[in-house]
Amino acid sequence: MNIQYNTQLQPYNSFRTKATARIFCAPQTSEELAEILKHFSQEKKLILGAGFNLFFTKDYDGLIIRPAMRGIRVVSETDNEVVIEAGAAEDWDTFVGYCVSKGFSGLENLSLIPGSVGASPVQNIGAYGTEVRDRIIKVNAVDVRTGGMREFTNEECEFAYRDSIFKITCGFVITAVIFRLDKSFQYKEKYIDLSRELEGVSSPTLAQVRDAIIRIRTRKLPDYRVLPNAGSFFKNPVLSQLEKDTLQKKLADLPVYNVGENKFKTSAAFLIEKAGYKGKRHGMVGTYEHHALIIVNYGTENGKEIAGFMQEIQQEVFLQFGVKLEPEVWIF
Ligand SMILES: Cc1cc2nc3c(=O)[nH]c(=O)nc-3n(C[C@H](O)[C@H](O)[C@H](O)COP(=O)(O)OP(=O)(O)OC[C@H]3O[C@@H](n4cnc5c(N)ncnc54)[C@H](O)[C@@H]3O)c2cc1C
Repeated sequence: MNIQYNTQLQPYNSFRTKATARIFCAPQTSEELAEILKHFSQEKKLILGAGFNLFFTKDYDGLIIRPAMRGIRVVSETDNEVVIEAGAAEDWDTFVGYCVSKGFSGLENLSLIPGSVGASPVQNIGAYGTEVRDRIIKVNAVDVRTGGMREFTNEECEFAYRDSIFKITCGFVITAVIFRLDKSFQYKEKYIDLSRELEGVSSPTLAQVRDAIIRIRTRKLPDYRVLPNAGSFFKNPVLSQLEKDTLQKKLADLPVYNVGENKFKTSAAFLIEKAGYKGKRHGMVGTYEHHALIIVNYGTENGKEIAGFMQEIQQEVFLQFGVKLEPEVWIF
């Protein structure tokens, strides 16, 4: 059992906030993980991937588990499809790049999302009209309470928009994810930004689509190595018909997407911008000048400053528009 004590977590979160973990482990196998869980059964626990969707406001008085299971392998294949398994600690974008290089399609729209493979089902990562749930067939996990191994089918993962059973219960450490991908590829116009980027390319190849997405994301998003951030900070709010109608009286250009059952998703970035918070900076924290939804760290090591700025945005948006913004990022 490889256990560390009083581990500094600053390198393990993309906001680069300082905090220590009283106990820290990075198990390489499910068996090692089960042993650690048995040994530390009384400790409170937190699972940490690559730390791109969370930050710390205080020291963690418990056990942090950072899965270190690696490996990519083809489990089975037919003429048309391949079933491929990746360990939780594999870097997500490296895995997507590997699939594209082999001609396996289905994940290319999720190129350049920072993080680990193991975290991808947790919030059902999504971008450019694709969600990872579309391609996951199984998730292997270890039950935090018992140390027992468990397989989840796609249905059992209870995927929804930026959500899954792993987010709700937080009781399972994902050790590997199994995907079904296609061996052929035909580009389908699904997303306007992407189609624009591919203008003039007739029948884009898989590699061309991945490259286009990488170009768009590199242009649009701040580099977390230069300006530490955790991507989109808030979820896009979902409004009732009444809330939507009321808000449209104030904001005639409010973007809304009908998501069924008389519910309408709107843009958190739009509301933040209208509240006057695009590119706004308080001390060492601010929103990115080109994207209101991204909170960036200009130099603080104190997570409380980031959390304080988040609350300020929430209060202002609520005051002006009556909408409660919920963070997509985890705050510990
Ligand atoms: C610049 C930038 C752009 C981004 N763009 C997107 C985007 O387009 N779409 C999108 O969906 N997300 C996006 N994100 C968010 C982030 O990339 C994803 O949430 C990613 O899946 C985080 O992976 P991670 O390994 O860093 O997870 P972490 O941040 O370490 O953890 C996230 C959550 O998952 C849990 N978790 C992590 N690993 C495991 C595991 N093995 N088992 C069980 N639970 C686990 C943690 O407890 C935590 O609750 C972006 C982030 C950044 C910084």
